[in-house]
Amino acid sequence: MFLLGHSCWSYLFSKATGRELNVNLPAYLALLSGILPDFDIYFQPYIVHHTYTHSLIVIVPVVIVLTYFFGRLGFAFSIGILSHLLGDFLVGTIPLLYPLFPNSDIGLNLGIPSLADTVLEIGAFTLVLVYAYWNGDYKLIVKPSRESLPLGIPLFALVTLTLLFAGDRSIPLAEFAFSRRALTVITLGHILLSGILAIGVLQGLRWFLGNRRMRQKTRRDTSSVQPRTDQRGYVPP
Ligand SMILES: [Zn+2]
Repeated sequence: MFLLGHSCWSYLFSKATGRELNVNLPAYLALLSGILPDFDIYFQPYIVHHTYTHSLIVIVPVVIVLTYFFGRLGFAFSIGILSHLLGDFLVGTIPLLYPLFPNSDIGLNLGIPSLADTVLEIGAFTLVLVYAYWNGDYKLIVKPSRESLPLGIPLFALVTLTLLFAGDRSIPLAEFAFSRRALTVITLGHILLSGILAIGVLQGLRWFLGNRRMRQKTRRDTSSVQPRTDQRGYVPP
């Protein structure tokens, strides 16, 4: 599964889990959790992609640690991480017990790119748009807010991981992205999701600038209404 699907699946699964547990997992974490297992791409060639970070032997202890330290929030985030394994399991295979059993790959292998994969990714993206409207997360991109700023983190990960992955395999990205109909749809999905996140970051920046201006103004106002003192610092009654 591509990053679009992973990000959208984790948003749906981890947000729904958080809702069940009465915690509100921030949107940027919900979108990020599902792409964490592919962070191994940042560490190539030291870690081979799709090995340790896609194995339950590594992921289960991570889930336990996150849940232990961050409670319900950590558990909801972990569900997002686990959704990555499910996504890869459906369209390909995952090395379930790597490195203990290096040949433990299992999966439905529906194919990537394939019609099934495209439906799973674009379907999830559509559901994210509906869910984000329903739970109010859409506000992060329609008005300036502090909470919009961290959307830059999943945006950065989506863009850099795509570039690194393509660079590593010497894939001419622009050519590959539109080479088949299934890929073209997926590519457009990536562009749309990145665009939405970029708008969110801009709203965060608007909040930041507005907030700074406001603070400067209140500082000016308070200094101009300060009581006048004489030379010895005496404040007249
Ligand atoms: Zn993966």
